[in-house]
Parts: sequence; structure tokens; C-alpha cells
Amino acid sequence: MSEHAIEVHQITKRYGAIQALNGVSFNVRRGEIFALLGPNGAGKTTTLSIIEGIRQADGGSVQVLGMDMDTHARQIKRRIGVQLQTTSLLPDLPVADQMWLFGRLYGVAMKRSHVLALLELFGLREQAHRLPDHLSGGQRQRLALAIALVNDPEILVLDEPTSGLDPQSRRMLWDIIRKLRDEGRTIVLTTHYMEEAATLAHRVGIIEAGKLLALGTPGELIKQLHQSTAITLPDIFPVEVLAALPAIVEIKRESGRVVLYTYDEPLSYQALMELARERGLALNDVRIQPPTLEDVFLQLTGYRLTNDMTPTVASS
Ligand code: ATP
Repeated sequence: MSEHAIEVHQITKRYGAIQALNGVSFNVRRGEIFALLGPNGAGKTTTLSIIEGIRQADGGSVQVLGMDMDTHARQIKRRIGVQLQTTSLLPDLPVADQMWLFGRLYGVAMKRSHVLALLELFGLREQAHRLPDHLSGGQRQRLALAIALVNDPEILVLDEPTSGLDPQSRRMLWDIIRKLRDEGRTIVLTTHYMEEAATLAHRVGIIEAGKLLALGTPGELIKQLHQSTAITLPDIFPVEVLAALPAIVEIKRESGRVVLYTYDEPLSYQALMELARERGLALNDVRIQPPTLEDVFLQLTGYRLTNDMTPTVASS
């Protein structure tokens, strides 16, 4: 059995004049949470819909659970759970019946006890008799995710599962997604949220304009791109002395403070402390800021993915 649940090789997709995917390749390991991170229009939804068998790639190949999408789309679809868009919920059907009906669509006759157990898992047990319109945004998102589980899938494909939610509802969904992973499921999701990718996913693929720019664990990406750690200290040493410290790549002065960027933080920090001792200066208020996935994203794309999900051009 392959260690990979999903293997995507050089897929391309064009919509008229728009080249939505331009040779995207990645593998998703069994039992991992894999995030595709990128701005609007990067090609995330297109990639997912090709994995789900909803759209066909123009070129390249997709294998899911060892089966080829070109020849086994039906078998694959049965073993994947796809999170519904909340807009596809049926307005006149109470939550529990909604679950049951979607089960039927997958050919599963769910017992009432099974429906209620799933609703319980998603914190929706109390809402079993309510109509979807009477649920909060977070509850609707959770219902859409619960419906993805009606066929007990090995792989879950989630397109922006926490989009538009407040931080608390988002955290609740993260806990549920982790729980589903702990049950042995493989999870592929897309997100605009840097924090979501960094805290939830084992590995992250950064996608922009139909191309995968980087792939790895958040830690690997930071290392691969030689991101530097920032050490901020009071402006009490001459710049040329600081520049002579080991592993320093850049120095900036900002409102009475100095920021040292280093590729080896322990080495630079130790040398800085020795320098202070030699000069008999007390070095208080030193701050160390390790690099983040946000820094990696900025380096790769020239954009910052801000919290309101609008990519903005970086000022420096
Ligand atoms: P978002 O985060 O906004 O959902 P995305 O990363 O999921 O974006 P896609 O939805 O895959 O990106 O779109 C990739 C590109 O293809 C975009 O330029 C989009 O406008 C275009 N596109 C997507 N679907 C279609 C379609 N059915 N017809 C024409 N163009 C499309």
C-alpha cells in the first residue's frame, strides 16, 4: 500500500483564456492534514475539484488511494468526503433529516443513532430539529462538514472550511478536524489563513497563479528559504560592531532600537551577550522573533496574506 493517499502529477487546467493550473504536483500522505495556501484565484478550488473528480484536468494525472482518476472516478468518489458549500443546504429540511438525505445520496441508510452521534461530534446535537436558516454561520459550516462524513470517508477534502468564521468558531472547527485526523483520516484543505496552515497542517503547499511555489512542513519551508530570526535590542552599540557579530545578515534601526537579522540565532545571541559583558553594558529588553510562514509567503510571492484575506503588496 502506497504511503500516499493522493498523488497529483503535473496537472494543468485552462478555462478559456485563463490558465488556472500550470503543472501542479504534490503528494498527500495517509493520515496527514495537508493545506493548500494561497490568495484568491490561485487555483486551490480547481485543484480540489480535480481531486474530488468533479472537474477533469486537461493534462497530468491524479491517483487517489492507489486508483487512477481517469479510470476509477466512481470508486474514488465513494471514498472521499467533500464538504458541501453551505449554500447547498436544503432550506426546508431540519438538520437531522438533512444528514439522512445526504447519506441516501451516497447510498448509505443512516440509523437515527448514527445521525445523532455525528451531530454530537460537531456540537450540533441540540440543533437536530432546527432548519439550516436558524443556525449561526459557524453551526452551518459545521453541519456542512458533518455531511461530508455521512459515507465514513478515508479522505476529507475541505475547501476553506473556516472561511468567514470568528476566531472561536474557527478554533472549534480546528479541533474537530484534528479529531477526524486522529481517527486515521487524511485531510486536504485550502485556506487563506496563514495561522490556519501553520497550526493545523503537517505540510503546506503554497500556490499562486496556478503554480505550486513551495511545499513542506512550516518548519522546512522556513529553513529552505533561509528565513532569518530578528533580534531587537536597544540602540547602544555602533552599527559596525554589531555587523561584525557572527551570522548577521541585515541590520535595521527603528525608533531607538536596532533589529539584527541572523541565520543562526543562538550563535548571534551568545556573541551579543559577550559583547555587552566586554563593554560593561546591561542589555535589557532584548526580543527574539523567529521567522513565520507569513515571512515565507512574503518572500515567495511579494504579498502579505492579511487577516481580512485581501492580499496586499508588502511595503518593504
Ligand atoms: P479562491 O480562494 O478565490 O476560491 P482559488 O485559489 O480557489 O480562489 P480557483 O477558484 O481554482 O482559485 O480559480 C483559479 C482561476 O480560474 C481564477 O482565475 C478563476 O477566476 C478561474 N476560474 C475558476 N473557475 C472558473 C470557471 N468555471 N470558468 C472560468 N474561470 C474560472
